[in-house]
Amino acid sequence: MPRPPNSGETLWSEALVARLSELWLSGTASGEISRRFGISRSSVMGKLRRLGLLRRDRPGVPTYTARQLRAIPVPKPRPEKRPNKRNKQPVTEPVTPPLPPSPPPEPEYGTLNLLDLRHNSCRWPEGDGPIFVFCGRPRHHESSYCEDHTKRSLSGLARGVPYVGQRMARS
Ligand SMILES: [Zn+2]
Repeated sequence: MPRPPNSGETLWSEALVARLSELWLSGTASGEISRRFGISRSSVMGKLRRLGLLRRDRPGVPTYTARQLRAIPVPKPRPEKRPNKRNKQPVTEPVTPPLPPSPPPEPEYGTLNLLDLRHNSCRWPEGDGPIFVFCGRPRHHESSYCEDHTKRSLSGLARGVPYVGQRMARS
């Protein structure tokens, strides 16, 4: 059954369609287009729909109808978490400070020979072996001996403080 010629279609020349597309895509309202073209707005909308332009996004113009917009669920804004004192500070792993380098092992005092002695080593001779050894503990103030041996040297003045020359002479 032959359909009657679509009077709406005959209206659209190629140039008019191009102009319609141009105006529509540039954001011109359909009512404005219909006014410029001197045709009904429904004709403009119908042509746009047939051209597939109606659904296409125009810059800044949403293609939703009011009913569609109402149907779109609006996500409820999440209630903001109240600032928690514990959350204010960023949680960082406790940093353990690097251990200080372990001090050099203490020399075995009382076993130092003459070459082991430092400028501040106690020179109190120790031991009775064939190799002469010294106390070697840190000196006490200006004394040549450590605190202990300084006391011993002072208290032992009467008894005679041992010194290297004496002991070497004896051995
Ligand atoms: Zn000493």
